[in-house]
Amino acid sequence: MEKKKGMELLTISSGDMFQPYRWSVGKYGSKFLLEIKENKRFIGVKCPKCGRVYVPPRKVCGRCYVAMDEFVPVSDEGEIVVCAIIEFGFVDPSTGVQRPVPYGYVFVKLDGADTALPHFLDSADPEKVKVGARVKAVFEEECKGSIMDIKHFTLI
Ligand SMILES: [Zn+2]
Repeated sequence: MEKKKGMELLTISSGDMFQPYRWSVGKYGSKFLLEIKENKRFIGVKCPKCGRVYVPPRKVCGRCYVAMDEFVPVSDEGEIVVCAIIEFGFVDPSTGVQRPVPYGYVFVKLDGADTALPHFLDSADPEKVKVGARVKAVFEEECKGSIMDIKHFTLI
């Protein structure tokens, strides 16, 4: 940057910030997270018209536009449908700490579901992290009612 005579570039630092906040995940999101917290299991919701099972559950089928209220259990195992190996560090908003790189990030279609759930994978091995690979959820010892109660998925 060009420095003009008699002027200097100043920087201003705002220091550390702490911004706690909460938001509602709604009735369906709460049911999904409570099932994980209390039973370390997944549930989805089934469309009464097309039979599609959404995980995480949502109120309305995206294809049929009808309300859904039939909750169904789905497996904690499934198949990778989208994957990436992340090698660029970033500050994880759920922890405030930079995630160590590399790590895997996947969309998993759990057995019994028709949609995919995004989450971390504990492997960054390009030979093994592939679409179609089988994975299983690993839960935290103590669950708190957060999506991060799923520690990560692991290859099986
Ligand atoms: Zn439907």
